[in-house]
Formats: sequence, C-alpha cells, structure tokens
Amino acid sequence: MNNSKTIPLSVPNLSIDILNNVKETIETGWVSTGGRFIKEFEDKIAKYVGLERSISTQSGTAGLHLALRVLDVKEGDEVIVPTLTFIAAVNPVRYVGAEPIFMDCDDTLNMDMDKLDKFLKNECNLVDGKVINKLTGKQIKAILAVHVFGNPLNMEKLMKIREEYKLNVIEDATEALGSYYLEGKYKGKHCGTIGDIGVYSFNANKIITTGGGGMVVSKNHQLLDKVAFLGVQAKTDPLYFKHDEVGYNYRMTNIQAAFGTDQIDKLESFIETKIRNYNFYKEAIENIEGLSLLPFKQDTRSNHWFYSVIVDKQKYGIDRDELLKNLNDNHIQTRPLWGLIHTQKPYINNQIYKLEKAEFYETNLINIPCSSNLNENEVNIVIEKLRDFRRK
Ligand SMILES: *Cc1c(COP(=O)(O)O)cnc(C)c1O
Repeated sequence: MNNSKTIPLSVPNLSIDILNNVKETIETGWVSTGGRFIKEFEDKIAKYVGLERSISTQSGTAGLHLALRVLDVKEGDEVIVPTLTFIAAVNPVRYVGAEPIFMDCDDTLNMDMDKLDKFLKNECNLVDGKVINKLTGKQIKAILAVHVFGNPLNMEKLMKIREEYKLNVIEDATEALGSYYLEGKYKGKHCGTIGDIGVYSFNANKIITTGGGGMVVSKNHQLLDKVAFLGVQAKTDPLYFKHDEVGYNYRMTNIQAAFGTDQIDKLESFIETKIRNYNFYKEAIENIEGLSLLPFKQDTRSNHWFYSVIVDKQKYGIDRDELLKNLNDNHIQTRPLWGLIHTQKPYINNQIYKLEKAEFYETNLINIPCSSNLNENEVNIVIEKLRDFRRK
C-alpha cells in the first residue's frame, strides 16, 4: 500500500515555463511594482472576465481594503458581511474603521439573500436615502458578499437589493475566478464583475497563483483610477512627490505578475480537471451512506474550486471530526470549514442576524483534496478511504 505520500488538499499547479518570465524580470531588473508583466497580467484578467480594465494588488486582502476605501466606507459606518467565510473577507472592514454585521448562509454556503432582504426591511430605517441600522443608529454603507468555494452568489437578488437600498456591493470573488452565470439576467457574466467592485486573489491555495496577489475589477473607471492611486501611496504628483491622501504600498510586483501571466493561460484547463474530479467524487460519494457532496449552483459554470462533503453522523457512524482525523492520519489532507467569523475574538461583540444554518455547516463539513493537479488514481484513494472509514 502506498501510504507514505500525502494527498494534499489544495496545492499550486505551476509549470516550469514560468522560469522564462522570472528570468526576464532578473535580466531587466524589473522586479518591483513596474514592468511589462503587470500590465500584461491585468489585461489578461480583464479580458478573461469580460471587462476593460483591472488593477493588480499585493493580495486579495489589499484589494478588498482598497475597494472599501474607494467606496467611501469609513469610521462609524457598517458593512454587511457573511459569517461563513475566511476572515480575510471581514478584516478590511475594520481596517477602514467600520464595523461588520454578520449574515447567515443558505444551503449554497453563500450569504442568505432572503435574510439579507428581511434584515434591511425589518431592522433598518431609510433616513434621507441612508440605510440606518435600528440597533446601532449607524449607517450601513455596503454589502460585502463572498462567492464561497467558487459557487456563484445569487447576484440577481443581491443586485435588486442594491437598487432598492442604494447600497454598494463588493464581490469577494477571491475563490471564484472562472465562475460565471449561464442563465438569467447575468448570463455570460463572471463572478466579480456584476457588483460595484470585485476582487480576485492569487494566493497559493487559490485556483491560479502568483505566490501572493490580488486583482480589483469594476466597470466603473473612476473607482479603478482611485484604487490605482491609493495603491501607490496616493501620489498626486509623480515627479515632486505630492500626496493629498493617505495611500498604501499595495501594488503587485512584476515577479508576481510574471507568474500570473503564465497561470491565467492555464486556468481553463485547471477548471476542466476540477470539474472532472468533482464528478468522479460525486458518483462515488452518492453511494456512500451518510456522506453527501455539496452541489454547485445550477445554471452557472462554477470553477469548482473547493469540494465540500457533509457528514451525517447517524448514517455514517462517525462524526465529522473523527473522519477528519482518520483522513489526515492516513495522509489525506482534509480540513474543516472556517470558524464562523462572528465567533472570532475581534468580532464577538458584533451583530449577527438570525443565525440558523452556518453552525450546521461549520460542524459537519469537510473539504477534500481538490488540487487541479490531482489525478484520478489519487481521487480513487480518497474515495476508498471515505468508504473504509464508515462505521456501520
Ligand atoms: C483568499 C481569500 C481572501 C484573501 O485573499 P489573499 O490574497 O489571501 O489576501 C479573501 N476572502 C476570501 C473568501 C478568501 O478565500
């Protein structure tokens, strides 16, 4: 039995060709925030998601921070966010001095749009066109929603809410590059391109990687100009170093972009592999009593970034944590869902609206190996273990 090699959860899929690009950055000396790969990568991402422009950043987190800044979210404001997400989606709200309000998920793992609607209707007042939270008296400025695991959000509903309440929408599409809608009002539109601003991430565990990096997209050129401006220390006069605002050193480097321009060309083939492996898992897991593989949203082409399995302890015989331990002990790297953000120390005093579903998923979900370089043989090893560990 080949038990020595660990099957990782999600690892980069890099090709050695990238060395040609990296070599060029060394030979030309363009290793920092200038150089041809940055523009090339920004143009490729914009073209891929069907927009004119995009602005690269050091990370997805930096992109989200800039998004909040340019939408004028500031001290004393509130932003509606999901509790079921990676904490990087929420921390930038605090960076600008605002407070998050946590929303529950629905069975897609994404923000529950019906609850969001109810919250705005029942718990807020419209005063002079501003949405005021009855509980705190503070103004809600934006909704920051996440396409969790690459599963597209219900953007039709979210954009209706945006119209009704005149709230800005930030799409955290850090996990959803390559996901788009196949039907409805946003047919053909990519996740991240529908709200006011969208953000992608190229951290090492994301679907393509630049080591670390992010990209901000929008149809609104003024917002993008501002993102670019704040990302380079808000330099008003490039020659005489004039600065009228507090900016950041948030731009991507040419070395990161040298990875990116190569990776983006492979994205479609990565997604193909992800979908193929997902379907292998699906066929097998359907026949393991007590386990179910969460589907991706219908009428979308999801990038299938992360696969989620729900463990029903009654039917499977052991609970999620025992399965998690067994798999990890047997060299199959799996992980639980993130700890819900409203339970994390910095946020325990923040408002949470009608929590019902997120806790269930937090307790019963595992993510199983899903790298785009995972082969069929490895998928079969994982499946075999999932069958073996059932106790009934
Ligand atoms: C990865 C991720 C981020 C942050 O991206 P980085 O590039 O790692 O800063 C933000 N939100 C979510 C939901 C993520 O998964």
